[in-house]
Amino acid sequence: MRDGMTRLETYTSEIEAEIAKGRLETLGVTVILEKDNCGSMQPHLDLQAGVKLYVPDQELDKARDILATSAAATTSGTWVCAGCSEEIDGSYDACWKCGRDRE
Ligand SMILES: [Zn+2]
Repeated sequence: MRDGMTRLETYTSEIEAEIAKGRLETLGVTVILEKDNCGSMQPHLDLQAGVKLYVPDQELDKARDILATSAAATTSGTWVCAGCSEEIDGSYDACWKCGRDRE
């Protein structure tokens, strides 16, 4: 239980959780990962417990949208913004940095 934070997802692997965290943080969402590691002498128990991803209540909807969008188009590659040269994930149609539409 965390004040002002809501659990958005639980991942079965730490790598998945870190990828999601990276995507969210790139777009300005605060993320806290919490690992259940009560079984530190038995690593397989960590996997069963999973990695919980928390975001602030006020950013929950935004975070959901980001994860939903990225999950739908993870193989479409990236494109480079003509306005600011930022490399943008292929699942977005506008630059997250300067707002320019994809060309
Ligand atoms: Zn841009």
